[in-house]
Amino acid sequence: MSTVDSACWIWLGATDQAGYGRVYPKPGKPRGYHRVVWKELNGHIDQNMDLHHLCENKRCYNPKHLLPVGRVAHMYIHSGGYTWRGKNKCRRGHPLTVGNIRVRFSKGYPMRVCHVCENIKRAAWRKENRDHCRKQLRDWRARNVH
Ligand SMILES: [Zn+2]
Ligand SMILES: [Zn+2]
Ligand SMILES: [Zn+2]
Repeated sequence: MSTVDSACWIWLGATDQAGYGRVYPKPGKPRGYHRVVWKELNGHIDQNMDLHHLCENKRCYNPKHLLPVGRVAHMYIHSGGYTWRGKNKCRRGHPLTVGNIRVRFSKGYPMRVCHVCENIKRAAWRKENRDHCRKQLRDWRARNVH
């Protein structure tokens, strides 16, 4: 099971020790092939941002399968402290495709969240707050109008 909905683009050239496709845009300066393609198609990516393979296929360079994450978050994901595996739906059943995944930090740890659920929660929070504000205003008026 994977969280991606399109095919992997497999790099068949050289790979580095970790198994990522490797190219040499400049002599002696190896680059991850997926990173080179990403830059080509999406433009700049911050130096301290990694591209995580959502498909977990290190040879893949399909930009839709790559998620920019901070280096620390990326290390954490790969340390197994947090798993991306095995789930392609969130708790409420929304598909966890690349476009619907957001990485959020909870107590310093990255976690994957469902964007649809997040929007639902945000809307609920706003509504609650609005009701709360209105109630306060009513109470205030009630106290001050004699
Ligand atoms: Zn892939
Ligand atoms: Zn990764
Ligand atoms: Zn959801």
